[in-house]
Amino acid sequence: MGDMGDYFNDLKNDRKERRARLGVPCPRCKEVRPKAHPSILLPNQRCKVDGYRDPRHDDRQEGK
Ligand SMILES: [Zn+2]
Repeated sequence: MGDMGDYFNDLKNDRKERRARLGVPCPRCKEVRPKAHPSILLPNQRCKVDGYRDPRHDDRQEGK
């Protein structure tokens, strides 16, 4: 016990790595707000700005 900090760091790093690997800019953001930075979407994640949902299958059931 006592390694919760490491545990959370691992989670954080894993998420960051996954985002870098699988994240794609939201295509609808680019249409609707071409001057703003598009949201970065992971598989099956919904864009908070315009409601677009990434069509790729989410292998890890994330974003719940
Ligand atoms: Zn969007």
